[in-house]
Amino acid sequence: DPTPTTQRSGVSVRFRAVTKEYGAQRALNGLDLDIQPGEFVALLGPSGCGKTTALRSLAGLETVTSGELLIDGEDVTRVPVNRRDLGMVFQSYSLFPNLNVIENVEFGLRTRKVPAAERTARAQEMLDRVGLGDFAERFAHQLSGGQQQRVALARALVTRPRVLLLDEPLSALDAKVRTQLRDEIRRIQLDLGITTVFVTHDQEEALAVADRIAVMNAGKIDQIGTPEELYRRPETGFVANFIGQSTLLTALVHEGRIALLGREIDLTDPLPEGALARVRVRPENLALESFEHGEGEPGAVVTTSFLGSLRRTTVHLDSGLSIVVQHSAEDTPEVESRVRVRLLQDMVTAHVD
Ligand code: ATP
Repeated sequence: DPTPTTQRSGVSVRFRAVTKEYGAQRALNGLDLDIQPGEFVALLGPSGCGKTTALRSLAGLETVTSGELLIDGEDVTRVPVNRRDLGMVFQSYSLFPNLNVIENVEFGLRTRKVPAAERTARAQEMLDRVGLGDFAERFAHQLSGGQQQRVALARALVTRPRVLLLDEPLSALDAKVRTQLRDEIRRIQLDLGITTVFVTHDQEEALAVADRIAVMNAGKIDQIGTPEELYRRPETGFVANFIGQSTLLTALVHEGRIALLGREIDLTDPLPEGALARVRVRPENLALESFEHGEGEPGAVVTTSFLGSLRRTTVHLDSGLSIVVQHSAEDTPEVESRVRVRLLQDMVTAHVD
């Protein structure tokens, strides 16, 4: 085998009108998805939208009700799991407790009858890649959760799979380890050029690592695009709500203008007199003001959370709406105190529907 141990150019993956029913429950509802060779695609969506079912169907762990699955242009819809040539990492640490780390990583090579010396060399190289070169002799119970997931990743990659499937691999880890491992998975994926499908319900995670994000809703894809496209130009209310915490506000158009959160705004695309303009605002489009001296809409602080360099505060406006404001971490509003929320003028017009 003259190729370097892990190098492999990516393959394409395609879901074509895939439907999966569990009795009367339709988990996938005509799912169409085209993934380019070497691409990192995140399947993002709320609980129950069908992400895991999509991934398990691609893996061959579920038999689809109708539709086709193609890997590298080949129809694998009826190909059994062990012949699809995929690597998988799940949410729960799935290491064999009675095998040490390197034996865990070698496992797939053993079942493929790879000779012992090559097996060890490839497993060791993968362990080095995930930063656990010195942990070969340990057992799962001697590893942290993050380390166990690294071993699971090495085990999934050592067989040089055509596609890497990750089902919420980080959700059992604490925040710091989660971010570290997330970035490392991305680095390794880029190194290997392996096509990767990553299931997550965490929009921040998806925005941070994916080439493209497919937002799923009720068994199909609502919108697919780069993180920037989804964030800046959501095509549905569902996507807008799901990516980057936003609130939809409405205001009556009067003489080509609307009044919103303490501002009079000229509409770039004028709407008819009396029309209801819809404006989507995000936490970073808003400012928190003092109740006494501000000009924004009055309300009361519900919660406030410290996020390092900045802070997010939820305000219940007197008009009945709750809204999240992002502001400097130096402002520390007290819960239940009276404040005002104002729109940052320059951010607005682009968001008018
Ligand atoms: P989560 O983030 O909660 O895991 P998900 O987006 O991955 O959600 P799926 O697990 O794919 O969603 O489930 C999609 C739908 O199919 C859900 O309504 C679920 O209850 C249903 N479902 C999944 N597996 C089965 C099963 N084995 N039998 C019956 N219904 C199922």
